[in-house]
This record gives sequence, structure tokens and C-alpha cells, in this order.
Amino acid sequence: LQSPYHGGHLEVIVGPMFSGKSEELIRRVTRALIARQRVAVFKPAIDDRYHATEVASHNGRRVEAHAVRHAQEARAILHGETPLLPSEVALPDMVAFDEAQFFDEGLVDLALELAERGVRVVLAGLDLDFRGEPFGVMPQLLARAESVEKLTAICLCCGAPATRTQRLIGGEPAHYFDPVVLVGASESYEARCRVHHVVRR
Ligand code: ADP
Repeated sequence: LQSPYHGGHLEVIVGPMFSGKSEELIRRVTRALIARQRVAVFKPAIDDRYHATEVASHNGRRVEAHAVRHAQEARAILHGETPLLPSEVALPDMVAFDEAQFFDEGLVDLALELAERGVRVVLAGLDLDFRGEPFGVMPQLLARAESVEKLTAICLCCGAPATRTQRLIGGEPAHYFDPVVLVGASESYEARCRVHHVVRR
């Protein structure tokens, strides 16, 4: 089954960590490649989990990707580095972004521009940060998407569907005001349901 949409559109995949967002993105990309479609995959350069030139899921599946520092860099790559006549550049059939929550606002404009020009755009990312609050550009993307898939993981405390990402620092729930990016601390994340998600204040 190919996409039910005619022409360009946005597909957003969200959920907490370990819910299979990367797995689902990789699945959609792989199917498009099997159908000999042209696909470009991007991820933010800050997430160097596993590999700089691949998107990998926690269960080890992977596809090739460009690691970029911002949306503008992805646009330059799509325009073959010479955006002199951007409207004449042949775009891929599908463009995918993993860890979309880490991109700048420019991602919204780029995604819309690609969709307007007929591209199937797939964006996977965390809908909520560790505090349980909307993460970066995700609300903008979710509101504009033709299709939204909310995935769940399994709560490590009770086995219910997990919709949140619990942040642990030294094994204890993180505080609300702990910085989102913490360098050098022994921190970890686990999937939790609403009941077992704890944010200390
Ligand atoms: P995401 O991109 O959403 O972080 P991934 O696609 O990278 O998710 O990884 C999903 C995989 O994570 C699952 O297939 C499973 O192997 C693993 N996993 C680890 N912890 C959990 C959990 N609590 N619930 C479900 N899957 C988990």
C-alpha cells in the first residue's frame, strides 16, 4: 500500500522514547526504496547515537542519512548545493527527518515547501520533552500534518502503554528546571505512562 495522499503531504510520527518512531520511519523509507523511489533522510547532527550517516533504531535497523546542523543545511543538500534555480531542481519522491524535535523553526517552512512541491515528507520526533511539555517545532508540524501516528512504548513501572519519557539523573527522577541538555551527568531515560511519569519540582 502506498500513501493514500495525492501529491505532496506531511506524515508525522510521534511518541516517547522507545516507542518505535525510528523503526517506523525506517520501515516507511525502506518500502519506498524497494519501490525504487528516490528518498533523502536527514537527522540533526547533535544526535550521534550509533552513527553520523545513518538513522538507527534501538533494535538495530538502519538507513543512510545526512546529519545536518539546521534545516537550511538540509535544504542546501536537496538543492544540490547550488540553489540558483531551486524550482528546477529535481526533488526526491520522499524526504524523511528523524529526531525532528531537535530541528530549528526552519524545518516547518522546509517541510511545507517540500509538500507544496509534491514531496512526501515524513517527520519522526518526540511530541513531549522529559517534563511532559510540547517539544520544539513538533506542535507546528503536528497541526499541519495530513497524517499523524502517535506510538506508545511499554511503561517500565506497570506495563501500560507509555506516552511519556521519564528522565532519570543518578537513578532519580529529574527536576523540572534541570537543563534539557545536561553534559557529563549519569542520566538515562525510560518509557512511562502518565501515572508513573514523575517530574520533581
Ligand atoms: P524511538 O525512535 O521511538 O526511540 P526506536 O525505534 O529507536 O524508538 O526503538 C524501539 C525499540 O526500543 C523497540 O522495538 C524495542 O526493541 C526497544 N525498547 C526498549 N525499551 C522499550 C520499552 N519500554 N517499550 C517498548 N520498546 C522498548
